[in-house]
Amino acid sequence: MERILVLPGDGIGPEVTREAQRVLEVVGAESGLALEFEEDLIGGAAIEAHGTPLADETVERARSCRAVLLGAVGGPRWDDMAVDVRPEKGLLRIRKELELFANLRPAAVFPALASASTLRPEVVDGIDLLVVRELTGGIYFGEPRGRGEVDGLREARNTMVYDESEIARIARVAFESAGRRRGEVTHVHKANVLEVSQLWMEVVAEVARDFPEVRLDHQLVDSMAMLLLREPARYDVIVTGNLFGDILSDEAAMITGSLGMLPSASLGEGGVGLYEPVHGSAPDIAGQDLANPLAAILSAAMLLEHSLDAPKPAARIRDAVTRVLEEGHRTSDLAAPDQTPLGCRAMGDQVLAQLSGS
Ligand code: NAD
Repeated sequence: MERILVLPGDGIGPEVTREAQRVLEVVGAESGLALEFEEDLIGGAAIEAHGTPLADETVERARSCRAVLLGAVGGPRWDDMAVDVRPEKGLLRIRKELELFANLRPAAVFPALASASTLRPEVVDGIDLLVVRELTGGIYFGEPRGRGEVDGLREARNTMVYDESEIARIARVAFESAGRRRGEVTHVHKANVLEVSQLWMEVVAEVARDFPEVRLDHQLVDSMAMLLLREPARYDVIVTGNLFGDILSDEAAMITGSLGMLPSASLGEGGVGLYEPVHGSAPDIAGQDLANPLAAILSAAMLLEHSLDAPKPAARIRDAVTRVLEEGHRTSDLAAPDQTPLGCRAMGDQVLAQLSGS
C-alpha cells in the first residue's frame, strides 16, 4: 500500500487537491497501484487548529508516507501575524524537514492554450522543458551573511557556496529526468566570473559520464535568459543553482502563459517527494468553485512519475488534460470572453470522463 499525505492548505488549496485526489484514485485503481490517502493540515488551517502552521505530528506523518500532495497556503486572515508563525512558514518547514533539495518545474505548452502566451505562436509551439533547480544551497543560505556598517557606510553581504556533493546530487536528478525525456541537459552557469559556477561545470561534467545517453550543454545564465524567449522549444532539461533557478523557472513558467496550469515537484534525500501547484491560495476566488484544478492534477501526474515510478499512468493524466483542453473546456482563468467557463469540480469531472473513455 502506497500512502499519500494530502495537505490541502488554505484558499483554493482544498478545492484543487480534491480534484487531484479524485484523478489519482481513478488512475491508481485502473493501473493496479494500491494508493491510500490521508489528510492533514498546513498553513492557516493548521494555525487555526493547532496554533502553528505545521504541527510536529504532521511532519512525522509526512515522513512516513511515500509522497505529499499539497494545495497552497496563506490568505489575508493571517497576513498581520509575525513572520515566524505565518502560513508560509509551514511550507518552508515541510520543505526543510523532508530535505527537498531538488525543485522540478515543467513548462509545457498545451497547443490549445498557445494563444495564452505573450510570445508569438510559432515561438511557443512545442515548448516542453523542465527546470531542475537546486533548492537548499547557494546564496540564499550561504554564510557569512548579514548587514553591518563599515567606515560609516551601511554594508550587506551574502555568500554563494556549494560543495561538490550538493552539485552532484542535483545533477543526477537532472540527468535521470532527461533520460526519461528527450535526453538533453543544459547546465546554466556564470563560470566566466564565478568560481562556484566553475565547480558546477566540473562536477556536472563528471556526473554526465554516468549518463552516456544524455547530451550535456553548458549555457551562460544571461544568454539563457534571452534564449528562453527566442527559442524556448529547443530546451529539454535545464539544471542550475538556487538563485539562477529561481529566476529562470519563473521566466519559463510565464512563457507558457497561465498560472493555473503549472505543476511542480520537490524531491529530497529522505525519499518523500512533495507535489504542489505553482500558484498560491487565490483568496479572491476561494470557496466559489472557480479555481482551475489542472495545475494540481498535473502535480498528481508528477507524483506518479517521480515517487511511484509509474510514468504510464502519469502520461494518461497529461493526455486526458490535453484532450479536455482540445475539446474547448476552460475554467474562468483560461476562458475567452465568449466562452462559458467550467467550475473547479466540473473541470475535474471532464478529466475523469476523458480517463474513463481512454
Ligand atoms: P496566487 O497565485 O494565489 O493568485 C494570483 C492570481 O492568480 C489571483 O488573481 C488568483 O485568483 C489567480 N489564480 C491563482 N491560481 C489560480 C487557479 N488555480 N485558478 C484560477 N485562478 C488562479 O498569488 P497571490 O494572490 O500573490 O497570493 C495569494 C496568497 O497565496 C498569499 O497569501 C500568498 O502568500 C499565498 N501564496 C502561496 C503559495 C504556495 O502556497 N505555494 C504560492 C504563492 C502565493
